[in-house]
Amino acid sequence: MRENLFDKLNEMRDYYSYLPNFIGNRYVEAETDRYLDSYDPGRGEVIAKVPVSSSKDVEEAVSQAVSAFEKWSRLPIYDRLQHLIRLKVLVEERRDFFARLLSQSVGKTLREARGEIFRAIQAIDSALGSPHLFAMTRKIMNIARTEPEIDMEVVREPLGVFLIISPFNFPIMIPMWFIPWAVTLGNTVIVKPSEQDPTPLIAFVRMFREAGYPEGVVNLVNGDGSTGRMLLTHKDVVGVAFVGSTAVGEKIYAEAAAHGKRALAQTSAKNPVVMMPDASSEQSIENIVGGFFDMAGQRCLAPGLLILVGEAYEKFLNRIIDKVKKIRVGYQLSEEVDMGPLISETARKRIISMINEALESGSKVYLDGREHAPPKGFEKGFYLGPTIIETSPDSKIAHEEIFGPVMPIVKAKDFEEAVQIANTRKYGNTAVIFTSSGKYAREFARRVNVGNVGINVAVAQPDQFFPFPGRKKSFFGVLHGQVDAIDFFTDRKVIIQRWW
Ligand code: NAD
Repeated sequence: MRENLFDKLNEMRDYYSYLPNFIGNRYVEAETDRYLDSYDPGRGEVIAKVPVSSSKDVEEAVSQAVSAFEKWSRLPIYDRLQHLIRLKVLVEERRDFFARLLSQSVGKTLREARGEIFRAIQAIDSALGSPHLFAMTRKIMNIARTEPEIDMEVVREPLGVFLIISPFNFPIMIPMWFIPWAVTLGNTVIVKPSEQDPTPLIAFVRMFREAGYPEGVVNLVNGDGSTGRMLLTHKDVVGVAFVGSTAVGEKIYAEAAAHGKRALAQTSAKNPVVMMPDASSEQSIENIVGGFFDMAGQRCLAPGLLILVGEAYEKFLNRIIDKVKKIRVGYQLSEEVDMGPLISETARKRIISMINEALESGSKVYLDGREHAPPKGFEKGFYLGPTIIETSPDSKIAHEEIFGPVMPIVKAKDFEEAVQIANTRKYGNTAVIFTSSGKYAREFARRVNVGNVGINVAVAQPDQFFPFPGRKKSFFGVLHGQVDAIDFFTDRKVIIQRWW
Protein backbone atom coordinates (compact mmCIF):
# COMPACT_ATOMS: atom_id res chain seq x y z
CA MET A 1 0.00 0.00 0.00
CA ARG A 2 1.21 3.47 -0.85
CA GLU A 3 2.17 5.92 1.83
CA ASN A 4 -0.99 7.91 2.39
CA LEU A 5 -2.71 10.20 4.77
CA PHE A 6 -4.71 7.66 6.76
CA ASP A 7 -2.81 8.54 9.92
CA LYS A 8 -2.00 12.12 9.06
CA LEU A 9 -5.47 13.55 9.17
CA ASN A 10 -5.25 15.06 12.60
CA GLU A 11 -2.70 17.68 11.79
CA MET A 12 -1.81 20.29 9.23
CA ARG A 13 0.82 19.08 6.81
CA ASP A 14 2.89 20.44 3.98
CA TYR A 15 2.24 17.24 2.10
CA TYR A 16 -0.62 14.78 2.61
CA SER A 17 0.64 12.31 0.05
CA TYR A 18 -1.77 9.89 -1.66
CA LEU A 19 -5.35 10.54 -0.64
CA PRO A 20 -7.74 7.70 0.15
CA ASN A 21 -11.44 7.17 -0.51
CA PHE A 22 -13.77 6.63 2.44
CA ILE A 23 -15.97 3.60 1.88
CA GLY A 24 -17.81 1.54 4.50
CA ASN A 25 -16.38 3.74 7.29
CA ARG A 26 -12.79 2.96 6.29
CA TYR A 27 -10.14 4.94 4.50
CA VAL A 28 -9.23 2.81 1.51
CA GLU A 29 -6.76 3.21 -1.28
CA ALA A 30 -8.36 3.69 -4.70
CA GLU A 31 -7.77 0.95 -7.26
CA THR A 32 -6.24 3.23 -9.82
CA ASP A 33 -2.93 4.41 -11.20
CA ARG A 34 -4.25 7.84 -12.12
CA TYR A 35 -3.57 10.59 -9.60
CA LEU A 36 -4.07 14.34 -9.95
CA ASP A 37 -2.23 17.08 -8.07
CA SER A 38 -3.90 19.12 -5.35
CA TYR A 39 -2.11 22.36 -4.41
CA ASP A 40 -1.67 24.75 -1.56
CA PRO A 41 -2.64 27.65 -3.83
CA GLY A 42 -0.80 30.24 -1.75
CA ARG A 43 2.52 28.42 -2.06
CA GLY A 44 1.88 26.97 -5.49
CA GLU A 45 3.06 23.59 -4.24
CA VAL A 46 1.49 20.16 -4.45
CA ILE A 47 0.10 19.07 -1.09
CA ALA A 48 -1.70 15.89 -2.09
CA LYS A 49 -2.24 13.34 -4.81
CA VAL A 50 -5.91 12.81 -5.63
CA PRO A 51 -6.96 9.45 -7.05
CA VAL A 52 -9.16 9.30 -10.11
CA SER A 53 -11.19 6.39 -8.82
CA SER A 54 -11.91 3.48 -11.11
CA SER A 55 -15.12 1.60 -11.90
CA LYS A 56 -14.09 -0.91 -9.21
CA ASP A 57 -14.02 1.84 -6.57
CA VAL A 58 -17.37 3.13 -7.77
CA GLU A 59 -18.83 -0.37 -7.63
CA GLU A 60 -17.50 -0.93 -4.11
CA ALA A 61 -18.88 2.39 -2.82
CA VAL A 62 -22.30 1.86 -4.36
CA SER A 63 -22.52 -1.69 -3.09
CA GLN A 64 -21.63 -0.59 0.47
CA ALA A 65 -24.16 2.24 0.30
CA VAL A 66 -26.86 -0.09 -1.04
CA SER A 67 -26.36 -2.68 1.69
CA ALA A 68 -26.20 -0.02 4.41
CA PHE A 69 -29.51 1.38 3.16
CA GLU A 70 -31.35 -1.83 4.03
CA LYS A 71 -30.93 -1.44 7.78
CA TRP A 72 -30.40 2.30 8.04
CA SER A 73 -33.63 3.18 6.26
CA ARG A 74 -35.62 1.07 8.72
CA LEU A 75 -34.33 2.75 11.85
CA PRO A 76 -36.73 5.24 13.42
CA ILE A 77 -35.85 8.76 12.28
CA TYR A 78 -35.25 9.77 15.88
CA ASP A 79 -32.52 7.13 16.20
CA ARG A 80 -30.88 8.37 13.02
CA LEU A 81 -30.98 11.89 14.38
CA GLN A 82 -28.86 10.97 17.42
CA HIS A 83 -25.82 10.55 15.16
CA LEU A 84 -26.30 14.01 13.73
CA ILE A 85 -26.40 15.52 17.20
CA ARG A 86 -23.09 13.81 18.03
CA LEU A 87 -21.63 14.96 14.71
CA LYS A 88 -22.45 18.56 15.52
CA VAL A 89 -20.52 18.32 18.81
CA LEU A 90 -17.49 16.82 17.04
CA VAL A 91 -17.45 19.51 14.34
CA GLU A 92 -17.70 22.25 16.94
CA GLU A 93 -14.79 20.80 18.90
CA ARG A 94 -12.57 20.72 15.78
CA ARG A 95 -13.67 23.86 14.02
CA ASP A 96 -10.25 25.53 14.26
CA PHE A 97 -8.44 22.58 12.74
CA PHE A 98 -10.89 22.37 9.84
CA ALA A 99 -10.76 26.12 9.26
CA ARG A 100 -6.98 25.89 8.88
CA LEU A 101 -7.20 22.88 6.62
CA LEU A 102 -9.77 24.63 4.42
CA SER A 103 -7.68 27.76 4.27
CA GLN A 104 -4.59 25.85 3.25
CA SER A 105 -6.33 23.72 0.61
CA VAL A 106 -8.65 26.26 -1.02
CA GLY A 107 -6.62 29.45 -0.58
CA LYS A 108 -9.36 31.26 1.32
CA THR A 109 -8.33 33.38 4.30
CA LEU A 110 -8.73 32.05 7.84
CA ARG A 111 -11.66 34.41 8.40
CA GLU A 112 -13.39 33.04 5.31
CA ALA A 113 -12.60 29.45 6.29
CA ARG A 114 -14.08 30.00 9.77
CA GLY A 115 -17.19 31.34 8.06
CA GLU A 116 -17.45 28.14 6.02
CA ILE A 117 -17.30 25.95 9.14
CA PHE A 118 -19.88 28.16 10.85
CA ARG A 119 -22.22 27.58 7.90
CA ALA A 120 -21.56 23.85 7.86
CA ILE A 121 -22.64 23.75 11.52
CA GLN A 122 -25.71 25.80 10.64
CA ALA A 123 -26.54 23.23 7.96
CA ILE A 124 -26.51 20.55 10.65
CA ASP A 125 -28.76 22.74 12.82
CA SER A 126 -31.31 23.09 10.05
CA ALA A 127 -31.52 19.31 9.59
CA LEU A 128 -32.01 18.74 13.34
CA GLY A 129 -35.63 19.75 12.76
CA SER A 130 -36.20 17.02 10.18
CA PRO A 131 -38.24 14.66 12.42
CA HIS A 132 -40.82 17.38 13.05
CA LEU A 133 -41.08 18.32 9.39
CA PHE A 134 -41.23 14.67 8.51
CA ALA A 135 -44.05 14.03 10.98
CA MET A 136 -46.04 16.96 9.63
CA THR A 137 -46.10 15.55 6.11
CA ARG A 138 -47.80 12.31 7.10
CA LYS A 139 -51.58 12.28 7.34
CA ILE A 140 -54.51 9.93 7.30
CA MET A 141 -57.64 10.70 5.36
CA ASN A 142 -60.83 8.67 5.33
CA ILE A 143 -63.12 8.72 2.33
CA ALA A 144 -66.12 9.04 4.56
CA ARG A 145 -69.01 9.27 2.19
CA THR A 146 -68.44 6.59 -0.42
CA GLU A 147 -66.56 3.89 1.39
CA PRO A 148 -66.44 4.66 5.09
CA GLU A 149 -64.42 1.59 5.97
CA ILE A 150 -61.41 2.51 3.80
CA ASP A 151 -58.48 4.51 5.18
CA MET A 152 -55.87 6.20 3.09
CA GLU A 153 -52.52 7.04 4.49
CA VAL A 154 -49.55 8.82 2.98
CA VAL A 155 -46.17 7.60 4.13
CA ARG A 156 -42.78 8.97 3.18
CA GLU A 157 -39.96 6.63 2.41
CA PRO A 158 -36.27 7.23 1.73
CA LEU A 159 -35.19 6.28 -1.76
CA GLY A 160 -31.74 4.71 -1.55
CA VAL A 161 -28.28 5.94 -2.53
CA PHE A 162 -27.89 9.65 -3.33
CA LEU A 163 -24.89 11.15 -5.05
CA ILE A 164 -23.53 14.56 -4.07
CA ILE A 165 -21.11 16.24 -6.47
CA SER A 166 -19.47 19.36 -5.11
CA PRO A 167 -17.31 22.23 -6.42
CA PHE A 168 -13.94 23.44 -5.18
CA ASN A 169 -14.92 26.65 -3.43
CA PHE A 170 -16.70 25.28 -0.30
CA PRO A 171 -15.36 21.73 0.07
CA ILE A 172 -17.04 21.09 3.44
CA MET A 173 -20.05 23.40 3.56
CA ILE A 174 -21.58 22.40 0.23
CA PRO A 175 -21.62 18.64 0.85
CA MET A 176 -23.04 19.49 4.28
CA TRP A 177 -25.96 21.33 2.66
CA PHE A 178 -27.23 17.88 1.67
CA ILE A 179 -25.65 15.06 3.73
CA PRO A 180 -27.43 15.79 7.07
CA TRP A 181 -30.85 15.86 5.42
CA ALA A 182 -30.28 12.93 3.08
CA VAL A 183 -29.06 10.55 5.76
CA THR A 184 -31.37 11.63 8.58
CA LEU A 185 -34.28 10.98 6.24
CA GLY A 186 -32.98 7.44 5.79
CA ASN A 187 -30.90 7.49 2.59
CA THR A 188 -27.24 6.66 2.22
CA VAL A 189 -24.84 8.92 0.30
CA ILE A 190 -21.72 8.98 -1.83
CA VAL A 191 -19.93 12.30 -2.11
CA LYS A 192 -17.64 13.07 -5.03
CA PRO A 193 -15.69 16.16 -3.94
CA SER A 194 -13.86 18.46 -6.33
CA GLU A 195 -10.59 16.91 -7.49
CA GLN A 196 -8.88 20.26 -6.87
CA ASP A 197 -9.09 20.31 -3.08
CA PRO A 198 -10.70 17.22 -1.51
CA THR A 199 -8.36 17.03 1.53
CA PRO A 200 -10.63 18.92 4.00
CA LEU A 201 -13.66 16.76 3.25
CA ILE A 202 -11.62 13.57 3.38
CA ALA A 203 -10.46 14.54 6.86
CA PHE A 204 -14.00 15.61 7.80
CA VAL A 205 -15.85 12.40 6.89
CA ARG A 206 -14.15 10.33 9.55
CA MET A 207 -16.32 12.25 12.04
CA PHE A 208 -19.37 10.43 10.67
CA ARG A 209 -17.78 7.20 11.86
CA GLU A 210 -16.93 8.76 15.22
CA ALA A 211 -20.50 10.00 15.55
CA GLY A 212 -21.70 6.40 15.23
CA TYR A 213 -23.04 6.31 11.69
CA PRO A 214 -23.00 2.68 10.56
CA GLU A 215 -20.70 1.48 7.78
CA GLY A 216 -21.72 2.55 4.30
CA VAL A 217 -24.09 5.37 5.25
CA VAL A 218 -21.67 8.15 4.26
CA ASN A 219 -19.04 7.37 1.61
CA LEU A 220 -16.57 9.49 -0.32
CA VAL A 221 -15.16 8.65 -3.72
CA ASN A 222 -12.46 10.84 -5.21
CA GLY A 223 -12.08 11.59 -8.87
CA ASP A 224 -12.76 13.94 -11.73
CA GLY A 225 -15.72 14.31 -14.09
CA SER A 226 -15.26 10.77 -15.38
CA THR A 227 -15.74 9.35 -11.86
CA GLY A 228 -18.71 11.66 -11.30
CA ARG A 229 -20.31 10.37 -14.48
CA MET A 230 -19.74 6.72 -13.55
CA LEU A 231 -21.42 7.30 -10.21
CA LEU A 232 -24.27 9.26 -11.74
CA THR A 233 -25.10 6.62 -14.31
CA HIS A 234 -24.82 3.69 -11.91
CA LYS A 235 -28.15 1.85 -11.83
CA ASP A 236 -28.30 1.82 -8.02
CA VAL A 237 -27.85 5.56 -7.56
CA VAL A 238 -31.29 7.12 -7.27
CA GLY A 239 -30.55 10.83 -7.42
CA VAL A 240 -27.96 13.59 -7.47
CA ALA A 241 -27.46 16.94 -5.80
CA PHE A 242 -24.91 18.82 -7.90
CA VAL A 243 -23.25 22.16 -7.21
CA GLY A 244 -20.79 23.57 -9.74
CA SER A 245 -20.60 25.25 -13.11
CA THR A 246 -23.51 25.60 -15.52
CA ALA A 247 -21.59 23.78 -18.24
CA VAL A 248 -21.38 20.65 -16.07
CA GLY A 249 -24.70 21.12 -14.23
CA GLU A 250 -26.67 21.21 -17.47
CA LYS A 251 -25.12 17.93 -18.57
CA ILE A 252 -25.73 16.28 -15.21
CA TYR A 253 -29.35 17.37 -15.11
CA ALA A 254 -29.97 16.00 -18.62
CA GLU A 255 -28.12 12.79 -17.88
CA ALA A 256 -30.03 12.27 -14.62
CA ALA A 257 -33.32 12.79 -16.45
CA ALA A 258 -32.30 10.34 -19.17
CA HIS A 259 -31.63 7.72 -16.47
CA GLY A 260 -34.83 8.48 -14.54
CA LYS A 261 -33.06 9.93 -11.50
CA ARG A 262 -33.92 12.84 -9.26
CA ALA A 263 -31.66 15.82 -9.70
CA LEU A 264 -31.03 19.34 -8.61
CA ALA A 265 -28.18 21.43 -9.96
CA GLN A 266 -27.07 24.72 -8.42
CA THR A 267 -24.81 26.38 -10.93
CA SER A 268 -22.94 29.51 -12.11
CA ALA A 269 -23.80 33.18 -11.68
CA LYS A 270 -23.22 36.77 -12.74
CA ASN A 271 -24.77 38.66 -9.87
CA PRO A 272 -25.55 42.33 -10.66
CA VAL A 273 -25.21 44.99 -7.96
CA VAL A 274 -27.07 48.25 -8.53
CA MET A 275 -25.77 51.31 -6.71
CA MET A 276 -28.21 54.23 -6.63
CA PRO A 277 -27.03 57.83 -6.10
CA ASP A 278 -28.88 57.89 -2.76
CA ALA A 279 -26.98 54.87 -1.37
CA SER A 280 -25.51 55.47 2.07
CA SER A 281 -21.87 56.05 1.15
CA GLU A 282 -19.57 54.44 3.61
CA GLN A 283 -21.48 51.26 4.47
CA SER A 284 -22.44 50.66 0.85
CA ILE A 285 -18.87 50.99 -0.41
CA GLU A 286 -17.58 48.70 2.30
CA ASN A 287 -20.20 46.05 1.52
CA ILE A 288 -19.78 46.26 -2.22
CA VAL A 289 -16.01 45.89 -2.03
CA GLY A 290 -16.28 43.01 0.45
CA GLY A 291 -18.88 41.33 -1.75
CA PHE A 292 -16.71 41.47 -4.87
CA PHE A 293 -13.33 40.59 -3.39
CA ASP A 294 -13.89 38.28 -0.41
CA MET A 295 -12.77 34.77 -1.33
CA ALA A 296 -11.01 36.43 -4.28
CA GLY A 297 -14.41 36.50 -5.98
CA GLN A 298 -14.68 32.70 -6.03
CA ARG A 299 -18.24 32.46 -4.76
CA CYS A 300 -21.38 31.74 -6.75
CA LEU A 301 -22.99 34.54 -4.75
CA ALA A 302 -20.20 37.05 -5.29
CA PRO A 303 -21.30 40.19 -7.11
CA GLY A 304 -20.32 39.96 -10.77
CA LEU A 305 -21.26 43.34 -12.25
CA LEU A 306 -21.47 46.76 -10.60
CA ILE A 307 -24.10 49.05 -12.14
CA LEU A 308 -23.60 52.68 -11.13
CA VAL A 309 -26.81 54.63 -11.66
CA GLY A 310 -26.76 58.31 -12.74
CA GLU A 311 -24.79 60.47 -10.32
CA ALA A 312 -23.61 57.42 -8.39
CA TYR A 313 -20.81 57.19 -10.95
CA GLU A 314 -19.25 60.57 -10.08
CA LYS A 315 -20.08 60.26 -6.44
CA PHE A 316 -18.71 56.79 -5.67
CA LEU A 317 -16.31 55.53 -8.34
CA ASN A 318 -13.09 57.03 -6.93
CA ARG A 319 -13.98 56.09 -3.40
CA ILE A 320 -14.57 52.50 -4.47
CA ILE A 321 -11.19 52.40 -6.24
CA ASP A 322 -9.46 53.83 -3.13
CA LYS A 323 -11.08 51.23 -0.92
CA VAL A 324 -10.12 48.34 -3.22
CA LYS A 325 -6.51 49.54 -3.29
CA LYS A 326 -6.33 48.93 0.46
CA ILE A 327 -7.09 45.19 0.16
CA ARG A 328 -4.13 43.24 1.54
CA VAL A 329 -3.37 40.27 -0.69
CA GLY A 330 -1.25 37.53 0.82
CA TYR A 331 -0.76 33.99 2.02
CA GLN A 332 -4.13 32.73 3.18
CA LEU A 333 -3.06 31.35 6.55
CA SER A 334 -1.75 34.69 7.74
CA GLU A 335 -4.23 36.57 9.96
CA GLU A 336 -3.08 39.86 8.41
CA VAL A 337 -4.50 39.12 4.99
CA ASP A 338 -7.80 40.24 3.40
CA MET A 339 -7.61 38.23 0.19
CA GLY A 340 -5.82 35.00 -0.68
CA PRO A 341 -4.81 33.41 -3.98
CA LEU A 342 -6.95 31.76 -6.64
CA ILE A 343 -7.51 28.01 -6.59
CA SER A 344 -5.13 27.21 -9.47
CA GLU A 345 -2.77 28.53 -12.09
CA THR A 346 -5.37 27.51 -14.70
CA ALA A 347 -7.95 29.75 -13.03
CA ARG A 348 -5.43 32.61 -12.85
CA LYS A 349 -4.62 32.33 -16.55
CA ARG A 350 -8.30 32.10 -17.50
CA ILE A 351 -9.14 35.27 -15.57
CA ILE A 352 -6.12 37.15 -16.94
CA SER A 353 -7.20 36.27 -20.45
CA MET A 354 -10.71 37.57 -19.69
CA ILE A 355 -9.17 40.86 -18.54
CA ASN A 356 -6.93 41.01 -21.64
CA GLU A 357 -9.87 40.37 -23.90
CA ALA A 358 -11.97 43.08 -22.20
CA LEU A 359 -9.19 45.65 -22.55
CA GLU A 360 -8.56 44.73 -26.18
CA SER A 361 -12.21 45.28 -26.94
CA GLY A 362 -12.38 48.78 -25.45
CA SER A 363 -12.90 48.43 -21.68
CA LYS A 364 -10.94 50.76 -19.42
CA VAL A 365 -8.85 49.57 -16.46
CA TYR A 366 -8.76 51.54 -13.19
CA LEU A 367 -6.88 49.02 -11.13
CA ASP A 368 -4.84 46.28 -12.77
CA GLY A 369 -4.45 43.12 -10.70
CA ARG A 370 -2.20 41.58 -13.33
CA GLU A 371 0.56 43.90 -12.13
CA HIS A 372 0.16 42.98 -8.49
CA ALA A 373 3.39 41.44 -7.19
CA PRO A 374 2.96 38.14 -5.31
CA PRO A 375 3.67 38.31 -1.59
CA LYS A 376 7.33 37.91 -0.62
CA GLY A 377 8.29 34.30 -0.11
CA PHE A 378 5.18 33.08 -1.97
CA GLU A 379 6.22 33.81 -5.55
CA LYS A 380 4.94 30.47 -6.82
CA GLY A 381 1.40 31.06 -5.48
CA PHE A 382 -1.61 31.65 -7.73
CA TYR A 383 -2.11 35.31 -6.85
CA LEU A 384 -3.98 37.92 -8.81
CA GLY A 385 -4.52 41.41 -7.42
CA PRO A 386 -7.93 43.11 -7.35
CA THR A 387 -8.92 44.52 -10.73
CA ILE A 388 -11.46 47.22 -11.61
CA ILE A 389 -12.65 47.63 -15.17
CA GLU A 390 -15.16 49.98 -16.74
CA THR A 391 -16.96 48.27 -19.57
CA SER A 392 -20.19 48.28 -21.56
CA PRO A 393 -23.24 46.18 -20.58
CA ASP A 394 -22.88 44.25 -23.84
CA SER A 395 -19.25 43.23 -23.37
CA LYS A 396 -18.28 39.63 -22.70
CA ILE A 397 -16.86 40.45 -19.27
CA ALA A 398 -20.20 42.03 -18.31
CA HIS A 399 -22.00 38.77 -19.18
CA GLU A 400 -19.70 35.86 -18.33
CA GLU A 401 -18.97 34.56 -14.85
CA ILE A 402 -15.39 35.54 -13.92
CA PHE A 403 -15.00 33.73 -10.58
CA GLY A 404 -12.05 35.90 -9.63
CA PRO A 405 -11.13 39.25 -8.05
CA VAL A 406 -12.45 41.48 -10.82
CA MET A 407 -15.06 44.23 -10.57
CA PRO A 408 -16.53 45.14 -13.95
CA ILE A 409 -18.41 48.43 -13.76
CA VAL A 410 -21.09 49.73 -16.12
CA LYS A 411 -23.07 52.96 -16.10
CA ALA A 412 -26.87 53.15 -16.22
CA LYS A 413 -28.68 56.43 -16.79
CA ASP A 414 -31.51 55.61 -14.39
CA PHE A 415 -33.17 52.88 -12.30
CA GLU A 416 -35.11 51.54 -15.30
CA GLU A 417 -31.97 51.00 -17.29
CA ALA A 418 -30.26 49.36 -14.29
CA VAL A 419 -33.10 46.83 -13.93
CA GLN A 420 -32.96 46.17 -17.65
CA ILE A 421 -29.19 45.49 -17.49
CA ALA A 422 -29.63 43.25 -14.44
CA ASN A 423 -32.37 41.24 -16.11
CA THR A 424 -30.51 40.65 -19.35
CA ARG A 425 -27.79 38.49 -17.78
CA LYS A 426 -28.21 34.80 -18.57
CA TYR A 427 -27.80 33.77 -14.93
CA GLY A 428 -30.22 34.37 -12.07
CA ASN A 429 -28.66 33.59 -8.71
CA THR A 430 -28.77 36.95 -6.92
CA ALA A 431 -29.15 40.67 -7.48
CA VAL A 432 -28.43 43.40 -4.94
CA ILE A 433 -29.42 47.06 -4.71
CA PHE A 434 -27.82 49.74 -2.55
CA THR A 435 -30.21 52.63 -1.92
CA SER A 436 -31.84 54.57 0.87
CA SER A 437 -35.15 54.65 -0.96
CA GLY A 438 -37.74 52.08 0.11
CA LYS A 439 -39.57 52.70 -3.14
CA TYR A 440 -36.62 51.65 -5.31
CA ALA A 441 -35.74 48.75 -3.02
CA ARG A 442 -39.27 47.38 -3.17
CA GLU A 443 -39.57 47.88 -6.91
CA PHE A 444 -36.20 46.18 -7.48
CA ALA A 445 -37.10 43.17 -5.32
CA ARG A 446 -40.31 42.73 -7.30
CA ARG A 447 -38.92 43.12 -10.79
CA VAL A 448 -35.52 41.53 -10.80
CA ASN A 449 -35.53 38.00 -12.21
CA VAL A 450 -33.28 36.11 -9.76
CA GLY A 451 -33.60 33.63 -6.93
CA ASN A 452 -32.23 35.82 -4.11
CA VAL A 453 -32.52 39.60 -3.79
CA GLY A 454 -30.32 41.68 -1.51
CA ILE A 455 -31.09 45.17 -0.27
CA ASN A 456 -28.06 46.93 1.18
CA VAL A 457 -26.22 43.65 1.83
CA ALA A 458 -22.84 42.56 0.47
CA VAL A 459 -24.04 39.17 -0.66
CA ALA A 460 -27.64 37.94 -0.96
CA GLN A 461 -27.00 34.65 0.78
CA PRO A 462 -29.95 32.83 2.32
CA ASP A 463 -29.03 30.94 5.46
CA GLN A 464 -29.62 27.21 5.81
CA PHE A 465 -33.20 27.56 7.04
CA PHE A 466 -34.23 29.06 3.70
CA PRO A 467 -34.25 27.61 0.21
CA PHE A 468 -31.35 28.55 -2.04
CA PRO A 469 -33.19 29.39 -5.23
CA GLY A 470 -31.68 30.33 -8.56
CA ARG A 471 -33.21 31.14 -11.93
CA LYS A 472 -32.31 30.93 -15.59
CA LYS A 473 -28.87 29.29 -16.03
CA SER A 474 -28.15 29.29 -12.27
CA PHE A 475 -30.43 26.44 -11.21
CA PHE A 476 -31.78 23.28 -12.79
CA GLY A 477 -34.58 21.53 -10.98
CA VAL A 478 -37.66 22.31 -8.96
CA LEU A 479 -36.88 21.22 -5.42
CA HIS A 480 -34.10 22.56 -3.23
CA GLY A 481 -31.85 20.48 -1.04
CA GLN A 482 -32.60 22.25 2.23
CA VAL A 483 -36.14 23.52 2.76
CA ASP A 484 -37.55 21.06 0.22
CA ALA A 485 -35.37 18.23 1.50
CA ILE A 486 -38.33 16.15 2.65
CA ASP A 487 -39.66 16.12 -0.90
CA PHE A 488 -36.27 15.71 -2.57
CA PHE A 489 -34.87 12.98 -0.35
CA THR A 490 -38.05 10.95 0.23
CA ASP A 491 -40.85 9.59 -1.91
CA ARG A 492 -44.54 9.35 -1.07
CA LYS A 493 -46.45 6.14 -0.91
CA VAL A 494 -50.22 6.00 -0.42
CA ILE A 495 -51.53 3.00 1.48
CA ILE A 496 -55.21 2.32 0.88
CA GLN A 497 -56.56 -0.17 3.39
CA ARG A 498 -59.71 -1.90 4.46
CA TRP A 499 -60.08 -4.36 7.29
CA TRP A 500 -63.07 -6.69 7.70
P1 NAD B 1 -17.11 22.38 -11.96
O1 NAD B 1 -18.44 22.36 -12.61
O2 NAD B 1 -15.90 22.44 -12.79
O3 NAD B 1 -16.95 21.06 -11.04
C1 NAD B 1 -17.91 20.73 -10.06
C2 NAD B 1 -17.87 19.23 -9.79
O4 NAD B 1 -18.37 18.53 -10.93
C3 NAD B 1 -16.48 18.68 -9.53
O5 NAD B 1 -16.56 17.77 -8.45
C4 NAD B 1 -16.13 17.96 -10.83
O6 NAD B 1 -15.23 16.91 -10.68
C5 NAD B 1 -17.50 17.44 -11.24
N1 NAD B 1 -17.67 17.14 -12.67
C6 NAD B 1 -17.10 17.75 -13.73
N2 NAD B 1 -17.55 17.21 -14.88
C7 NAD B 1 -18.44 16.24 -14.55
C8 NAD B 1 -19.24 15.32 -15.28
N3 NAD B 1 -19.25 15.31 -16.61
N4 NAD B 1 -20.04 14.46 -14.60
C9 NAD B 1 -20.06 14.47 -13.25
N5 NAD B 1 -19.32 15.32 -12.49
C10 NAD B 1 -18.52 16.20 -13.13
O7 NAD B 1 -17.15 23.59 -10.90
P2 NAD B 1 -15.98 24.22 -10.00
O8 NAD B 1 -15.01 24.94 -10.88
O9 NAD B 1 -15.47 23.23 -9.03
O10 NAD B 1 -16.81 25.30 -9.15
C11 NAD B 1 -17.06 26.61 -9.58
C12 NAD B 1 -18.45 26.75 -10.15
O11 NAD B 1 -19.43 26.31 -9.20
C13 NAD B 1 -18.80 28.19 -10.48
O12 NAD B 1 -19.44 28.25 -11.72
C14 NAD B 1 -19.76 28.59 -9.35
O13 NAD B 1 -20.67 29.62 -9.70
C15 NAD B 1 -20.46 27.29 -9.09
N6 NAD B 1 -21.04 27.26 -7.74
C16 NAD B 1 -22.39 27.36 -7.63
C17 NAD B 1 -22.98 27.37 -6.38
C18 NAD B 1 -24.48 27.51 -6.23
O14 NAD B 1 -25.00 27.23 -5.16
N7 NAD B 1 -25.20 27.94 -7.27
C19 NAD B 1 -22.18 27.27 -5.22
C20 NAD B 1 -20.79 27.16 -5.38
C21 NAD B 1 -20.22 27.15 -6.64
